[in-house]
Amino acid sequence: PFDVLVVGGGPAGASAAIYAARKGIRTGLLANEFGGQVLETLTIENIIGTPKTEGPKFMGEVKQHVQEYDVDLISGEMATGIQADEMVRIDLENGEQLHSKAVILATGARWRNLNIPGEAEFKNKGVAYCPHCDGPLFAGKDVAVVGGGNSGIEAAIDLAGICNHVYVLEFLPTLKADKILQERLLELPNVTVILNAQTTSINGSDRVESLSYQQRETGVEETISVAGAFILIGLQPNTKWLENTAVNLNERGEIITAIDGATNVTGVFAAGDCTDSRYKQIIIAMGSGATAALGAFDYLIRKG
Ligand code: FAD
Repeated sequence: PFDVLVVGGGPAGASAAIYAARKGIRTGLLANEFGGQVLETLTIENIIGTPKTEGPKFMGEVKQHVQEYDVDLISGEMATGIQADEMVRIDLENGEQLHSKAVILATGARWRNLNIPGEAEFKNKGVAYCPHCDGPLFAGKDVAVVGGGNSGIEAAIDLAGICNHVYVLEFLPTLKADKILQERLLELPNVTVILNAQTTSINGSDRVESLSYQQRETGVEETISVAGAFILIGLQPNTKWLENTAVNLNERGEIITAIDGATNVTGVFAAGDCTDSRYKQIIIAMGSGATAALGAFDYLIRKG
């Protein structure tokens, strides 16, 4: 059995594994695919101390860093269940089981997609999901934000300070964001809100050049010229497999964590985008992975 078993091989899981292994305890890392969401990222400019890198390159370096320690890397396997008493047991899709004194859940999240033509094709070529990550790439340009919930309106206000013009498209007849955000948005001179709009395609040749939508009331198709389309229709944590377990999730399906990364289940900790952390970013995921590993180590030295 392991002392600490990390489930997930993104920034949070990698950081947790390094912090645990540096304590000289038996550490394992189980990941469906090492690298996580960062593998889908082309340019990263907000890892402090690394002014510019690319996702696959960066996670290659992170993997090398993990492998400098005695970490048992198990990849290509999905966790499907968890059971905790004296030991924590992780069930695998292939029917096998792993046992550990403490487990750190770091299974990350994924952005919901619109599943419309052009969305996959122009990912990293104008289609974006994160204003904190990619906003500055669209400085002085026109962009669209799809989604009128809190994350969409926060993104639109943020982008309005960087971009030339921001179009907000909401499927429903009203915005769903908090009133205060809506009021702030309406004060901005370079934002146009389009309600009752079904986004139908993202168009261009090499990069995004325009976005088409249908006015749901009239059925009329419209196209707006934009260099970028930010899709903000929700972030889904990879926690479906935890739904019928003892681990407490919030209404968004995020694992509820304490300040040391502990969950409600003794010996089970969590880190990164699968948790209720307020912001979802690489350095934040890495910080919370370190926190969870130190929390797990403190738990182990008390447990004896
Ligand atoms: P993830 O990176 O999601 O990793 C989850 C890991 O868990 C993966 O290894 C996965 O295979 C594994 N896993 C999932 N379920 C299971 C299971 N049941 N069993 C076993 N393994 C499992 N952030 C920035 O700071 N800067 C950026 O520029 C930036 N750009 C982004 C661009 C895009 C397109 C996307 C999608 C995200 C971007 N982000 C960026 C956000 C950043 O990638 C995430 O905040 C970060 O990756 C979260 O790390 P994580 O370790 O919590 O989860």
